[in-house]
Amino acid sequence: MQIENNKDTIKACLTETCMGFSGCPNALFSERSFHRDIEKLLSRINFDKLFKDQVSEIFRKHHRVIISASCCPNACSRPQIADIGLIGAESIDVTETQCTFCEACIKICDENAITLEKTRGPVIQEDKCLDCGKCPLSCLEGKIISSQKGFRVLIGGKLGRHPVLAEEMPGIYNYEETMRIIEKGLLLLLKNNKEIKKMADLFNLYDKKALFEMLIQ
Ligand code: SF4
Ligand code: SF4
Ligand code: SF4
Repeated sequence: MQIENNKDTIKACLTETCMGFSGCPNALFSERSFHRDIEKLLSRINFDKLFKDQVSEIFRKHHRVIISASCCPNACSRPQIADIGLIGAESIDVTETQCTFCEACIKICDENAITLEKTRGPVIQEDKCLDCGKCPLSCLEGKIISSQKGFRVLIGGKLGRHPVLAEEMPGIYNYEETMRIIEKGLLLLLKNNKEIKKMADLFNLYDKKALFEMLIQ
């Protein structure tokens, strides 16, 4: 049986987004020009041709690099299993303002990430907080405030024979920073393309910390 060569019909990079980019009320951070900006980036670095030339004579759907962007921690576009995943996020700060112990923040936090201490007021458990940005809205006193909006960035998720969940980079990145990380990730993929096929394979070549630093620089 002859196997169909899809080089001309399948794009080397597929961008998937959640409904947040077209108006979901849960969207914390979105950018209407996201698809257009990704297409411009792919075209500028000639990703389609260079990637296909190096991957295989026969280009199939599973060879594609997937970029998946969701605009809130609900992550409807499944960024955890994409080569590059984005999750809309809003980090928070606790201010010096007096806490009235109204407990509104505790009630709104789905992650049980806030505890109220008698003297200090709210304490955020960083390991539980998903940067969903809900508690600043509930705190009328301004004790908990929003500090930064952008995307959490995940690298190296994939399905297939050996599925892997993506690793999350530390921090939250604004739109420009996020686009730079995507570009650097794709360029790294092209540079190492003879040895690796997916972003997940980069972890075989680079230490995780070193890889993340390369993507941020
Ligand atoms: S990830 Fe969040 S913003 Fe995007 S569609 Fe799902 S609920 Fe809406
Ligand atoms: S940002 Fe969201 S997850 Fe984090 S503490 Fe506030 S409500 Fe909870
Ligand atoms: S931090 Fe704000 S919402 Fe939470 S208990 Fe104090 S005043 Fe109420």
